[in-house]
Parts: sequence; C-alpha cells; structure tokens
Amino acid sequence: MEITESQIRNIVGEVMAKMQMSGNAGGLHGVFSDMNTAIENAKEAQKQIRVMSMDQREKIITSMRGKIKENAETMARMGVEETGMGNVGDKILKHLLVAEKTPGTEDIVTTAWSGDRGLTLVEMGPFGVIGAITPCTNPSETVLCNTMGMLAGGNTVVFNPHPQAIRTSIYAVNLLNEASLEAGGPDNIACTVEKPTLDTSAVMMKHKDIPLLVATGGPGVVTAVLSSGKRGIGAGAGNPPALVDETADVRKAAEDIVNGCTFDNNLPCIAEKEVVAVDAICDELMRYMTREQGCYLASKEVQEKLIATVLNEKGALNRKCVGRSAKVLLAMVGVEVPDNIRCIIFEGEKEHPLIREELMMPILGIVRAKDFKDAVEQAVWLEHGNRHSAHIHSKNVDRITEYARAMDTAILVKNGPSYAALGFGGEGFPTFTIASRTGEGLTSAATFTKRRRCTMSDSLCIR
Ligand code: NAD
Repeated sequence: MEITESQIRNIVGEVMAKMQMSGNAGGLHGVFSDMNTAIENAKEAQKQIRVMSMDQREKIITSMRGKIKENAETMARMGVEETGMGNVGDKILKHLLVAEKTPGTEDIVTTAWSGDRGLTLVEMGPFGVIGAITPCTNPSETVLCNTMGMLAGGNTVVFNPHPQAIRTSIYAVNLLNEASLEAGGPDNIACTVEKPTLDTSAVMMKHKDIPLLVATGGPGVVTAVLSSGKRGIGAGAGNPPALVDETADVRKAAEDIVNGCTFDNNLPCIAEKEVVAVDAICDELMRYMTREQGCYLASKEVQEKLIATVLNEKGALNRKCVGRSAKVLLAMVGVEVPDNIRCIIFEGEKEHPLIREELMMPILGIVRAKDFKDAVEQAVWLEHGNRHSAHIHSKNVDRITEYARAMDTAILVKNGPSYAALGFGGEGFPTFTIASRTGEGLTSAATFTKRRRCTMSDSLCIR
C-alpha cells in the first residue's frame, strides 16, 4: 500500500498531538517527559520480563516482527521526512530486514560441562535496564533492532535518541510496546523521553539502575559512554575503504561497490566510503562505474565546489548534505544531472577532504595504488584506526587474508556489496549497532547478556 506524504504528515501530527496531552507523554507507550520516570517504568517492565518464560519473550518478539513489517513504509517515510536523510525505498528494506532477521531468543544459549564432579552451566542472564543512545542515520531501525535483542536477553531499554530523529524514534518505541501488550507482555519494554538532550543522556549515564550503556553514533558519544564508569558497548564511526586488485572481476566490483555505496544514500556506517584500486585496473573500474553504474565523474572544479558545500570551514560535515542523493548534492553545486545518476566519483589522493572524511553521502573518491601492497597501506590509513568495516574485491585468497589482518575490522566483505555483511544478500544476521570500538562486533541478543556460572557439585552428571 502506498502512503502519501500528506498521510504521513497526518500520522506525525496525531502522534505529536497525543504527546502534548499528559502523563506518559499523552498515552504514547513508553514515552515520558522525564528520564528518571522513563527509567523507573522500564525497571518495572523488566521485573515482569524477568519472570517470563523464554517462550513468552519469543511471543512478544514475534508480535514485534509483525508490527514492524506492517509499519515499515510509515517509519521509512517518517525517517526521511524528519531527518532529510536517506531514501524511502532502501529504508523500507532495512525495516523488513530488522523484522525478518534480527535474532530472538535462539541467540541465548547455555554452555554446560558435566563430569565426575557434577554439572556446571554458564547461562546468559539479563543486565536489567539498558541505556541506549541512537543515531539519526538509522533512527527507527536501531531502536527496533536494539529492543528486540535486548528483550530476547531478558532486558528492557531506555533510549536517548538523536534529537533530530525524535518523532521517528518515538513512533518505534510506541509500536514496540503496542506489540508487547498485544502479545500479553508488559508496557514500557522500550522507553524514551519526548525531548532528549545531553542532560537527559547524562541522567541516564549516571543512573544507579542502568548497569549497561550502548552507544551507536560518532566518536563523541562512544567516548562519553566509555568514560561513564559503567560497562559500555561502543558502536562508533567508520570510513570503510573498498580495495580492488587486478585479479578481481572488475565489472562486478564496480556494480557491487556502487550498489553498496548508494544504499540509503550512503548512510550505513558499513557502506563503501572510498575505493583504493591498483593502477592496473583503476581506469577500467572507473569506466564501468560511469558507463554502467550511473556514476557522475566530477571535474576538479566540481570537486572544489562540493568541498565548499558538504564541509564547513573547520572541515566538519554540513548536516544538510548527509544522506542526500547524488542528484541533490550536484544540484547544490549547480550541476543538473538525469535521474539515473546515483553516485559521484573522481580520482584523488587519500588526503583529499572528500576521501579522508566519513561523509555519509554518495560521493566516492577513487585512490590509485601502484600495487596491492601500496593499496593495503593506503586503505589502512583511510580507515583511521576505527577498526569498523573494510571491503575487498580480489580472487586471490592470500591477498584477502593479508588485507583482513591488516585492516583488523569488525566487518570485512569480500567480493560483494557492503550490505551483504548485514545478511542482506549475504549469510548472517543484521544489526544496526556494530560495536567496532569495544570489540563485540555485530551485536545481537547474546551481546546484551552477562555470563553467569551455576555449579552443582558431585551431582546431576547422569552419563
Ligand atoms: P552522532 O554522534 O551525531 O549522534 C549519535 C547519538 O549520540 C545521538 O543520539 C546524539 O544525540 C548522541 N550524542 C552525541 N554526542 C554525545 C555526547 N557527547 N554525549 C551523549 N550523547 C551524545 O551521530 P549521527 O550523525 O546520529 O550518526 C552518524 C554517526 O554514527 C557516523 O559516524 C556513523 O558511522 C556512526 N554510526 C555507527 C554505527 C555502528 O553500528 N558502529 C551505526 C550507525 C551510525
């Protein structure tokens, strides 16, 4: 079913009107005016989750999957409208991916040893109420995916979402609680505040009832969480390079890289942000990109205009350009292109401002390397030690291994688009919280649990 812009505006209007009423922000489930109240309510909900069977938790998660599917388009449109970032079609796919493939309680597994001296189990137990900070680049996707995993682990969650994506985040929080109530679960499994600020975030970080913090965002928020004195999971920034060597299927590499780079207008932190191509195939790769993949080759003059537009004088990102399409970005610098143009490419040195910065825009600089060794060195430099994501197109297994070791990233995609790492056209499960800085990698229910050993001495070994 197609939902029009005006219908979305009506839904948003209704949500905002409800929020202005009273109590837990106007009858919206899980939405409070005050952070302490949000945490108290999430704590009450966790007490109920704690005594539920795993089957009951799974029933709530199944209900959430259904609701997310039904509301995928609404949330995709809300996200684009509120943040101005990304595109509706890809955001729908992201929501469907969350609904269908986010792991549930099957991720919670027990380890056991039995022997002459009895039986020992290691169980994955909940932390309690988790405090989560979410980005504006995947606002509802992160709230939904985090909550499902955290609930599967027996937790409830309080969010301090990005202020620029608060309506979309609130819509997701309300939806998750509706799904829980419909499945016989408690309200307030996910909670948030109507006006998140750095102050509400500080309350959350210091609160005695929050034992675990999960930060998804840029370097600032991850550092803040890791300095809180509490256990923190830090899913930070990346700047993933895609390396292409002379053994690659160059035509397919061009297709995969542009598909990955342009997905949701380059918002995903895992998306190809620049290419390092060995000299032998660099021209061929760029030819395929321009002739077959809808790439616009930017002249030096256009590159200069883009630098002045997408970055400010201090070199920081102009937020108005983040997640915009190639056509829109080019229009901002006075270049009109047809609708089939989906990516802006150019060749440059690794230090080029449009190459070394994590732009989150479909602008793909190509760095030429003299050989594979040089390409690896340049790719390592470009990733800035984030240890987040890197991609490679090569048929040489030894080289792929060498690259993987050198990059040392949470994600490495070989011979495919970056989103294959999220189980989209690849094996494995999705997440929108990739704990690059703290090393958990792709987070799932198991990540949000603590290990508890339970030992029975000299009994219950029945071998
Ligand atoms: P951002 O860092 O501006 O904001 C992220 C969240 O952190 C927001 O809720 C913001 O309000 C909050 N925040 C920022 N500084 C804070 C501080 N000092 N204390 C407390 N809270 C603070 O990021 P964004 O623009 O929303 O998202 C894009 C960034 O996030 C990119 O760098 C991208 O790579 C990264 N990201 C990483 C992942 C991952 O899984 N590793 C996923 C999505 C986005």
